[in-house]
Order: sequence, then C-alpha cells, then structure tokens
Amino acid sequence: MELNMKQPQVKNFINGSFSRNGQKSMDVVSPLTGEVISSLPMSGMKELDEAVQSAKTAFPLWSSKTLKERIQIFFRYRQLLEENMDELSKLIQLENGKTYSESRAEVEKSMELCEFAVSMPQIVTNEVQEVSRGVECRIERKPIGVVACITPFNFPNMVPHWTVPNAIVLGNTVIVKPSELVPLSVMRMAELLKEAGLPDGVFNVVNGGQEIVEAICDHEGIEAVSFVGSTRVAKIVYKRASGNLKRCVALGGAKNHLLVLPDAHVRMTANDVVASMSGCAGQRCMAAAVMVGVDKVQHIIDQMIVECQNIVPGENLGSVISKEAKERIEGYITEAEEQGAKILVDGRGVVVDGKEGGYFVGPTIIDYVTPEMRVATEEIFGPVISIIRAKNLDEAIQIENNSNYGNAAAVFTQNGGLAKRVMEKASAGMIGVNIGVPVPREPFSFGGWNESKFGVGDITGRSSIEFWTQNKKTTTKWNPEDKTNWMS
Ligand code: NAD
Repeated sequence: MELNMKQPQVKNFINGSFSRNGQKSMDVVSPLTGEVISSLPMSGMKELDEAVQSAKTAFPLWSSKTLKERIQIFFRYRQLLEENMDELSKLIQLENGKTYSESRAEVEKSMELCEFAVSMPQIVTNEVQEVSRGVECRIERKPIGVVACITPFNFPNMVPHWTVPNAIVLGNTVIVKPSELVPLSVMRMAELLKEAGLPDGVFNVVNGGQEIVEAICDHEGIEAVSFVGSTRVAKIVYKRASGNLKRCVALGGAKNHLLVLPDAHVRMTANDVVASMSGCAGQRCMAAAVMVGVDKVQHIIDQMIVECQNIVPGENLGSVISKEAKERIEGYITEAEEQGAKILVDGRGVVVDGKEGGYFVGPTIIDYVTPEMRVATEEIFGPVISIIRAKNLDEAIQIENNSNYGNAAAVFTQNGGLAKRVMEKASAGMIGVNIGVPVPREPFSFGGWNESKFGVGDITGRSSIEFWTQNKKTTTKWNPEDKTNWMS
C-alpha cells in the first residue's frame, strides 16, 4: 500500500479559506513509522474569535434556508466521500495508524451518518394539535446558532461526522476543533464540504490543543459544545462549558465488560471478543476491555488464544497512536504480571519489519485478573483484554456494575433468559447480545452511561436532533367568532 508520508501543512479553515498565521506549531507524527508528516497551528483566542465571527455572520442566511435546501449539500458531500474513499482511507491510516480496511470502514460509516442527516426532512416533521376549539399549538425545531465540536484522535474522520452533518443540516453553523494528533482528515473534510457547495462560514476548523478547548468553553458567541474524548477531559469540558451556560454533551472513556457464559457459541464468541478488543488496535471506546468468564469457560479462552495467532501487527493490526501510548499499554501489562495475573498472549515488544519506528502492540490476553487491579478498572486503550473469572452470572453482573464507566456491555450465551438478565441489569448505555461491538445504527443513538457520558441525550441519531435544536412553541387563534377564551 503506497502511503504519501509528506503531507501539506495543516491550516485553520475560517470563512471558507485556509489560513495559518504566526501561531506556535506542533509536529504531526505518523504512528505507523514515527516520522513527522506535517505540522499544525496551535491556535488561540484570536483564531477562535475569527471563526466565531465567521460562523455568526453565516448563521442568519443558513438558518433561514429550508431543511430541504440544506440537505442538498450533504447529498453531494456524501458522494464526494465515496469518490475519494481510497485517498481518505489512506489519510486516516497515515495519521491514526489503523489498517486500510479499518480506515475504509470509518469513511463508510461517515457516509452512513450523512445518509441520516439527509433524511431529516422525513424525521423532523414538527408537531401541531388543535388544543381547544379554534386554538392550535405547534412545536417547531429551530437551530441554536454557533456550535462547536471537539473531537478525539481515534476516529479522525467518523467522530466529526457524528456531529457536523446533523448540526449543519438542522441549521446551525459549526466550529470543529480536531485532535491535534490527527488534524489532516478534518482539513480534507473542509475542502470537500466546500466542493459540495457549503456556503463560507457554515463550517470552520480551528486547530490546537488545551488552550483552544478552554477558549471554546468560555466563548460567549458559542451556544453549544459537543465533546468526545477521555473522561478526564470530558469532565473538564462539561463543567466549564455548562458553567458558562452552554448546552453541552461530553462523551468520555470506557471500560467495556463482555460477560461470557459457558454455553456460548465457541468460535463466534472467541472471534467476536478478540475482534472487539483488538480492532483499531483496541483504540475504540466500544472495545472489549474486560471479559468476565462465568464458571467454566476455558474452552472459549483456548479458542481466543488461537484467534490471536491470526492477528499480525503491521498487517491486520494497526499501530497505537504514539510512543507514550505504547509505553503506557505495555506498562499496564507488566504491572498485571507483577501482581500475579497470567499473560496468555503477550503483545509487548513488537517491532514490525520495515516500520521499526512505528508504535505497535500485539494482541494481549491477561487471565486471572482480580477486580482491584488497574488493568480491571482503568482504560488501557490498546489491544488488551483482562479476564476476570466469576462463579456465577450475578457475580459477573456485579463486576460490570462496579465500573465507573458505562459505555457498552455485552453477553455471550445461547440462553435467552440469561441474556435478558444482562440486558436489564448491566449498567451501560449500549448493550450487545452475542455482539462484541454493539454500536447502534442511526436512527438509534450513540451514548454511554455513568462516566462515559455527561449531559442529557446522546450524540447521534434521533437524540442528536434534540441537542442541535431548540423548540419554538406557537399558539394561534384565527377565528374571532369562537368563544374560546385562551389564557386571556
Ligand atoms: P483526549 O481527552 O485526550 O482528547 C480529546 C480532545 O480534548 C482533543 O481534541 C484534545 O485536544 C482535547 N484535550 C486534551 N487534553 C485537554 C485538556 N487538558 N483540556 C482541554 N482539552 C483537552 O482524548 P483522546 O486521547 O484524543 O481520545 C481517546 C479517548 O476518547 C478515550 O478515552 C476514548 O474512550 C474516548 N472516546 C470516547 C468515545 C465515546 O463515544 N464515548 C468515542 C471516541 C473516543
């Protein structure tokens, strides 16, 4: 696979133009090889002010268009995603380190998210009722204004598409702050949205790190903030943005538990658990992190070890995002080993031929983990699964419930009654039954519970319509002959 390691300089995208002034800059490093491939501007309040001004100026015209007019852009844009699939996938691969097929799947998901956005006229139909003789109440959904989306490194293309198409189609104007580790995909997104005909100022990109995130949370011109990233930062953003009276939804980290029962289908379960923990090098907020083996599941663990033999770093397993991430992940494995856990498959010390500078970690299975160990409670964010043994299903459910997180949980069994118990009792927002990565597809919405999400509602699907709009309630009476005395 030919990858172009040298990429253009990253620029901000404000009012339809790319710009880069005298800001400080930061290197963009490809985790596949450790090479510097570009640099990005670390913007501050001045650039954010310009972006807010541009979005504010664009808002009156954009919000006054009909839904039908606004979605036309995203029909064209979705087509451009398809036409540029190969190039976009390679770009994701280069900046994030995931495999080509994982990168393609990301762009395909972004296309699906656009398909949901263009279906808004079928969904956002407003409500009207004759509430008393001759008196009508209606509810209309109106945009909220200038909104901001702050995104993480692990899905450089898809996560911005969780929010941007819906927010824009519903009439808002948007500022995106991409992860400073993967700014290239969002720059391409800006180019393609422009090519699709989006008016200047409706979509803006401001690059940077902590400083710009704090400025977004504080800026008076921004009405709503969506955040996706770690729980530590989600808490900071949620408190700061909502403390400044903004609407905010902040998705955080995860520690997803997969409860495996002895009657589970052996090959399917082993395959799903291993794919869930190792896909995208374990850097998915929906990844399996803890397997709770209920009673006698050795035969399934043995099959998981076999499955891991088919996973080859640098071929069907991508890199993790950085040198620090590799060290952190390997540190967790070593600590668990020192605490008495058993490493059944060890991904430490992996070096890929021809990519010696890349940050690869092999698939790792850690058995006999106890619930107090850090590998059982903290988000490792690498291709690692910790197995905790439980005597029975109640104990397994208790282990899942004790997690501070609550993004996803899954159960593997052929017993419908036991599966239903887990569906009811698991303390997580997204539940899988014999599914290792239970991502709901639109119009169903995406969002976790507990410390995996702060704020009301979810970030995609129908739920996002609430977040990106406000209700206008109008009560009308036209017939003067009517005797109804409505609140007057
Ligand atoms: P991160 O929290 O480090 O960064 C996310 C964003 O916050 C970035 O844009 C970054 O520039 C900014 N940021 C970082 N530190 C900051 C600070 N101190 N103050 C203000 N802003 C700051 O997350 P990440 O490492 O890019 O992404 C991985 C994390 O995201 C994992 O925890 C993963 O579980 C989570 N994630 C969650 C979901 C979900 O749906 N719940 C989806 C994807 C990723």
